Amino acid sequence: MYKFDFVAPRSPEDAVAQLRDRGPGGKLLAGGTDLLLQTKARLVKPAYLVDLSHLPELERLDRRPGEGLWIGAMVRARAIQQSPLFQDGYRLIADGAGLIGSIQIRNLATVGGNLCNAAPSADVAPPLIAAGARAEILGPEGARSVPLDEFFLGPRRTVLGPSELLLGVWIPEPAPNSGGHYLRHTPRKEMDIAVVGVASAITLDGDRCAEVRIVLGAVAPTPVRATKAEAALRGQTVSLEAIDHAARLAAEDARPISDVRGNADFRRHLVEVLGRRTLTVAWNTAKLGVANR
Ligand SMILES: Cc1cc2nc3c(=O)[nH]c(=O)nc-3n(C[C@H](O)[C@H](O)[C@H](O)COP(=O)(O)OP(=O)(O)OC[C@H]3O[C@@H](n4cnc5c(N)ncnc54)[C@H](O)[C@@H]3O)c2cc1C
Repeated sequence: MYKFDFVAPRSPEDAVAQLRDRGPGGKLLAGGTDLLLQTKARLVKPAYLVDLSHLPELERLDRRPGEGLWIGAMVRARAIQQSPLFQDGYRLIADGAGLIGSIQIRNLATVGGNLCNAAPSADVAPPLIAAGARAEILGPEGARSVPLDEFFLGPRRTVLGPSELLLGVWIPEPAPNSGGHYLRHTPRKEMDIAVVGVASAITLDGDRCAEVRIVLGAVAPTPVRATKAEAALRGQTVSLEAIDHAARLAAEDARPISDVRGNADFRRHLVEVLGRRTLTVAWNTAKLGVANR
C-alpha cells in the first residue's frame, strides 16, 4: 500500500479549490467502483483523493415539468433505476443505469463517475447523449456547460480540466410524443461489459419522425452518434421498413475494433440488431404519447 492524502471538501467549490491549490496528481472520488480498482491495480497512483460523498449539492435529482431534469453527478445508478421520474421520453436513462454491474455496484456507482471515467462501454453515456443531455462543469473560473456528445475525447479522456469537476447533467424536457430505449449486448446477462450498446430516442409529429438521436457505445473510442441513420429517419414517415433501413445505416456509422469480446463485423451486426430493436421500442413509446394527446 502506498500513501496518499484524503480530502473531504465542504462544497463543490471547495473541491475545485482543493484540486487547484494541491496541484497535479489528485483524483476525485465518487463511488470508487472504477477508481479504487484502478488504484489497486496501480493503473492510477493518486497523490491525493478528494471525496465527493457528503456533498448534498451533487446528489440532487430534480424534474421540473416543462423545463427538464437535473441529475447531480453523485446520483447513484440504483436511485435512477428506482426513481419514478424516468418514464416516457426519459425512460432510456434508467435502461442504461439499471444495467450497471449488480445491485451492490449500482448502490455505489454514480452517474458522474460513469461519465468521467469515460470508458467507451459506459452504459449511462449513450442514453444521456440520446436524451440531449448537457454536462454542467465547475472549475476555478466558474461554471460552464458542454453538450454531452462533445464531453468525451477518448478512452478515459474528457474535456474536464485538471481542477474541474462535473456538477451533473441537465436534460431538456422531452416532447410528450417522444420515446427512447437503450440496449446492450453482453455474453453474460449481468456483471459484464457491453460489447455494443445502442440508445435511440424518437420524437414524432403525427406519424412522421420530427427528431431522432441514435448513439452507439463500445464501437469507437467515445460514444458516437449514428448520423447517417439519423438523417435517413428524420422527417420521414416512421415504419418498420424505415427503421430497418436506419439500423443498417447505423452499422455503417460504427467504427468498431476487433478484440477478445468480439470482432468488428460482429459488432457492426450487433449495432444493426440493437438499432432495430431500440428504434422500434422508442417509436412504440412515442406513438403512445401521440395517441394520448
Ligand atoms: C463489478 C463491476 C461491474 C461493473 N459493471 C458496469 C457496467 O455494467 N456498465 C458500466 O457502464 N460500468 C460498469 N462498471 C464500472 C463502474 O461501476 C461505473 O463506471 C460507475 O458508474 C463509476 O462510478 P463511481 O461513482 O464508482 O466512479 P469512481 O470510481 O469514483 O470515479 C470514476 C472516475 O471518474 C472521476 N470522477 C468521479 N466523479 C467525478 C465528478 N463529479 N467530476 C469529475 N470527475 C469525477 C474519478 O476521479 C475517476 O477518475 C462496473 C464496475 C465494477 C467494479
